[in-house]
Amino acid sequence: MNLREAREIGEGALKEAGIGDASADARLMLEWVTGASMTEYALNPFRKLTEEQEAVYLDLIGKRKMRIPLQHLTGEQEFMGFSFQVNPGVLIPRQETELLAEAALKLLKPGMRVLDLCTGSGCIIISLEQIGRRQEKADGTNRFTGSDISPAAIRTAAANAGRHGAQVSFLESDLFDRIQDRYDMIISNPPYIRTAVIAELEEEVRCHDPVLALDGREDGLYFYRRIIREAEGYLNPGGRLLFEIGYDQKEEVTKLLEQNGYREIRVQKDLAGLDRVVIGRYDRV
Ligand code: GLN
Repeated sequence: MNLREAREIGEGALKEAGIGDASADARLMLEWVTGASMTEYALNPFRKLTEEQEAVYLDLIGKRKMRIPLQHLTGEQEFMGFSFQVNPGVLIPRQETELLAEAALKLLKPGMRVLDLCTGSGCIIISLEQIGRRQEKADGTNRFTGSDISPAAIRTAAANAGRHGAQVSFLESDLFDRIQDRYDMIISNPPYIRTAVIAELEEEVRCHDPVLALDGREDGLYFYRRIIREAEGYLNPGGRLLFEIGYDQKEEVTKLLEQNGYREIRVQKDLAGLDRVVIGRYDRV
């Protein structure tokens, strides 16, 4: 089997199974198995796969047909230009979450202390530290902390920090339970899907992302409510709270922030035009 045949067989099989991104997924799996980039593929479509590559590739196609996310098959997802290790213990980083990381990056300054609650794979806080350093918005005096209630997430996040040489510390904590310091910026992409909606999500998400990372309880706002209420004990005056939100949560989250002493509240839309990020400044003295 050559590259072109492999791609056609894979794409056909995924299409038949109703996988949305059949073409892209087949290409990415082929690249992952053979190491052949798109350029290599274009120049050399008749390059033969080794027997082992063929077996691994067909096995991956079979698993993808069963709706196992591509990222769980390769063990990786890119976020903000960095490759992160992922596994069924963490939410796969989403492209729209880059908006939250970018918003935090704009506010970052040398010496700032930043906390990422519900850090999962650690993708937000690690890319913030890495890019912050490069852009000289962070130096040795910053502090970057990530926390998560899940020990599996903390292990994965720590491995990801190691992979990128990021100076981020991680701790297992139910939101602020084990946090002791105050911060200048608190970031969170908490679980925000209403429990009743989870059953309607696509199988890749519903069955393979950890439910713990999705479920925002009955009205989807459980974690915003808790974080907004408790953050005042952990934010320096003038400190910022930044959230990712679901497309229909702007009004409620904004209201919660206003009621709890936050000012200069801003909402940002993602590339799809959906409300995605909310920022507030903690202003009570
Ligand atoms: N954006 C994710 C999704 O659509 C949800 C992530 C979350 O709840 N924080 O599945």
